[in-house]
This record gives sequence, structure tokens and C-alpha cells, in this order.
Amino acid sequence: MSSIHQENDCLFCNIVQKKIPAQIVYEDETALAFEDISPQAPVHLLVIPKTHIPRLADMTTGDEKTLTQLFMIIHKLAGEKDLMDSGFRTVINSGEGAGQTVFHLHVHLMGGRPFHWPPG
Ligand code: 5GP
Ligand code: ZN
Repeated sequence: MSSIHQENDCLFCNIVQKKIPAQIVYEDETALAFEDISPQAPVHLLVIPKTHIPRLADMTTGDEKTLTQLFMIIHKLAGEKDLMDSGFRTVINSGEGAGQTVFHLHVHLMGGRPFHWPPG
């Protein structure tokens, strides 16, 4: 039995549950990483907690280990994708005003091209 909180109508919960296919590049007990369906860079991965946290704004005490794990995975994947020296961009959009469209917390990991600042 899993204690992970999942929602039936959430796209990324459905990817976690393998009800919707995705190009998964990493999985463990707490997190999943997969290819973005509409890549904005040669490397564009999404790293998500398996538990349903809608936005970064909704994180709470108790999420510390999960959020740390996401960044450990990003570090590992950035190494595997040979992005350590060329550089990589991580993005979390929290809320509609920031451009969030899927309301299950995810970190974008992008690399393989130059990035500019401010991001717009
Ligand atoms: P947001 O705008 O919420 O920060 O990012 C959502 C991301 O999810 C977008 O980059 C979008 O391309 C990606 N996405 C949306 N639907 C799917 C899907 O069904 N599968 C995958 N792999 N990515 C998706
Ligand atoms: Zn979800």
C-alpha cells in the first residue's frame, strides 16, 4: 500500500501511475523525471515529486526531504546529460501568474543551448 497522495485528474499523477505514457529517465520512491513533451531546449526534463504538491506555493513542513531529493536528481541528470560545464537552467513556475500550466509541482531542467536573463 502506498501512502503517496495522488489525484486522478492530475496529468503528472497519471504519469506517476503509468496511466499516461512518458519518456521516463529516472525513478525512485519519491520522485520521477521524464522528457518534456514540448522541449524548449535540446535537453528539457521535468523532475517531479510522486506526491501531489500542486505548486511550490503549497509546499509545507515535511516536504523538505522530497524537495532536496528533486535537486539531487537534477544534479545527477545534469551530469549524465553532460551539462555541468556548458551550464543548465532550472525553472519552477508557481501559479498562473508565473506561467504554470500543470498544477503538480515540477522542476524544469534545460540545457544544450545558451540561456539569457531575464527570462521574460
Ligand atoms: P509549466 O508551464 O506548468 O511550468 O510546465 C508544464 C510543462 O509540462 C510544459 O513544459 C509542457 O510542455 C509539459 N507537458 C504538458 N503536458 C505534458 C504531457 O502530457 N507529457 C509531458 N511529458 N510533458 C507535458
Ligand atoms: Zn498530481
